[in-house]
Amino acid sequence: MTKNTIKAHILGYPRVGAKRELKFALESFWRGESCAETLQASAQALRENHWKKQQAAGLAFVTANDFSLYDHVLDCCVLFGATPKRFCEKAAANELEYFALARGNAAQPAMEMTKWFDTNYHYIVPELNENTQFTINAHDYLRQIDEAQKLSKNVKPVLLGPVSFLYLSKAHGINKLDLLDNLSRQYAVLLQEIHAKKIEWLQIDEPVFALDLDDTWLKAFERAYAYLRGTRPKLLLTTYFANVSRYQAYITRLPVDGIHIDLVRAPEQLGPWVNAIPSHWVLSVGVIDGRNIWRNDLDKTLALLEPWVKRLGERLWIAPSCSLLHTPVTLAHENMLDAEIKSWLAFADEKLDELRIIGLALNHGVESVTNELAISRIAIASRNNSNRVHNPLVEARMSRLNTLNENRGSEFSVRQQTQRKRLNLPLLPTTTIGSFPQTPDIRATRAAYKKGEISQHKYHADMESHIAYAISEQESLGLDVLVHGEAERNDMVEYFGEQLAGYAFTQNGWVQSYGSRCVKPPVIYGDVHRPLPMTVATASFAQSLSTKPVKGMLTGPVTMLQWSFVRNDQPRETTALQLALAIRDEVDDLQQAGIAIIQIDEPAFREGLPLQKAAWAHYLAWAVRAFKLSASVANNDTQIHTHMCYSEFNDILPAIAAMDADVITIETSRSAMELLDGFGEFAYPNEIGPGVYDIHSPRVPSVEAMEKLMKRAIEVIPVERLWINPDCGLKTRGWSETRQALMNMVEVAKKLRLLLS
Ligand code: GLN
Ligand code: ZN
Repeated sequence: MTKNTIKAHILGYPRVGAKRELKFALESFWRGESCAETLQASAQALRENHWKKQQAAGLAFVTANDFSLYDHVLDCCVLFGATPKRFCEKAAANELEYFALARGNAAQPAMEMTKWFDTNYHYIVPELNENTQFTINAHDYLRQIDEAQKLSKNVKPVLLGPVSFLYLSKAHGINKLDLLDNLSRQYAVLLQEIHAKKIEWLQIDEPVFALDLDDTWLKAFERAYAYLRGTRPKLLLTTYFANVSRYQAYITRLPVDGIHIDLVRAPEQLGPWVNAIPSHWVLSVGVIDGRNIWRNDLDKTLALLEPWVKRLGERLWIAPSCSLLHTPVTLAHENMLDAEIKSWLAFADEKLDELRIIGLALNHGVESVTNELAISRIAIASRNNSNRVHNPLVEARMSRLNTLNENRGSEFSVRQQTQRKRLNLPLLPTTTIGSFPQTPDIRATRAAYKKGEISQHKYHADMESHIAYAISEQESLGLDVLVHGEAERNDMVEYFGEQLAGYAFTQNGWVQSYGSRCVKPPVIYGDVHRPLPMTVATASFAQSLSTKPVKGMLTGPVTMLQWSFVRNDQPRETTALQLALAIRDEVDDLQQAGIAIIQIDEPAFREGLPLQKAAWAHYLAWAVRAFKLSASVANNDTQIHTHMCYSEFNDILPAIAAMDADVITIETSRSAMELLDGFGEFAYPNEIGPGVYDIHSPRVPSVEAMEKLMKRAIEVIPVERLWINPDCGLKTRGWSETRQALMNMVEVAKKLRLLLS
């Protein structure tokens, strides 16, 4: 019988809790309904639960400090005393001050937030400047280690590495790397303190290795890690989301004790790493998909690993590809999921079990897990052979894709004239991005309907009254282009997924998006198509209530793809094009029902961009094609809007222009219109609505503040092509602040129209 000592571990566990306990604890604290102690107790209970699960799976470590009350990058700012001076300095000691950084308060707008690599998780962007002085506030960090050590001798804390921290930050007026030495010295001190706790291994995350790094940044690693040579735990340098073997020459020179690589995204890097790894390093291989929910093909994984077990012995570790932050917690409470589809899936807890099985098989031989492997084989075979995955009609339509015209009937300038005639809008039209506050009442109605507690008739009547309310509010505010408010949508992707074939849903498959915000990505398991119209009745009802145009509101194919768990048995682009055809059918039906403006949201368009530039062109080509396919069925006088937010757009402007939407609304207020500069320089040809109102903050923006932003916008974009709108949807806001903010926004439009006439 084989006896190896291969260690199994995870890089991080989801924070939200199987029933979103963290979300509810946070929101209750924010509403002032519970105290800081209660919040901290909930957080502690969650951590303990996560650690116990790791112990139960027989992992070699429990992973600590992967938890955060809001975001781990924000925590790193607090840990190293790098919180912006415009906030109170007590963020390390006071929960309210800590959350003010992320959410803003009456005096200050929040810190910026942006997407974590190519995921839908958002991190708080550190703000650094010449006055940034790093210190250490490690009390919380060390306390979490103590907490974990009460449960386990083998605690592996996680820390975001110094180079990634700087790289992911925004520096004003200085070169970020000027701060590297100072910061690294603080890391060295912290490492000593961690060492004093008898921690053997520290996981130091350097995810920026997934990006295209220039020489300066690569050299920064050597400089930073040189400070970390003193007393410290052993360091496992973790990389994920990409092949990092091209940086091998730099990485292997670092004074660390091992590396973690992602073999799900980049299996081809295994060989190069086994061959080049320093002889005293461990190699942690990420073999279980931390980004998707498909059951692992255990036979395949074992076959992949077996040759290396002998060669590396106990220097081989196994893990999921990345933190499980990006997967839901457990299948245990999924009672509604179709049994066959459920057998194809693995969430975080099931992935822990897969790790356990792989670990046992490698350490004690496959005989020790005969039953587990048999169950796994049945599930894998069932998915491979299921006729629920393949739909001949969809596949036939896909084979005729080339016969469809991807372009609109006429070029933009012609369409613009036709649309102006039809819509007759004022200069600087005002609009919103789609959703209005999702009040407790709305949520309760949706929940009651889902549980079968109210009839369909009652549900529709309630939803219509919410729509009518949103319309009448917008009418009295004097907005020019209205929306129905999206009361019926729990989530912009799930809502459509539920009506499309090829999709499955979970009850509790929540994944953290930012702070307390979670999304429940649906699962695309088979060929996608649209059996029936999805939004036509709602859009027509909303339009019947007003003489002003009410936008039809759709989620675009790229965002549908990006925010779903997608098939791993066909290329992403194939799934995107199937989605595009489904949305196209809906656009056509909406315009035939008389809807004059249709917004196809693509907030995740940028997020789908590969991390490495070499792969951009291919992605952009199919993503633009998917959007255009969904929109090109629109007649010239149907105005197509799109919306994007919380991304860096400037480097993909040609692709955004190629999408050829008549109007794009984008989020710009947090960066004070900085984002718009690119659109100006590039001479973006169509109409744009730059966001003037940061919807993540309860702060009501003043007329003056928004006017100033619009004046900046007018300097960059010809005023005839500008719209005025918030940054994004208003679903997370309350009505009273929304009303006030929009009143101010409409006031800005009126003032500017007067000024310009
Ligand atoms: N129409 C959506 C809304 O307003 C857009 C949301 C988004 O961009 N994420 O909620
Ligand atoms: Zn948005």
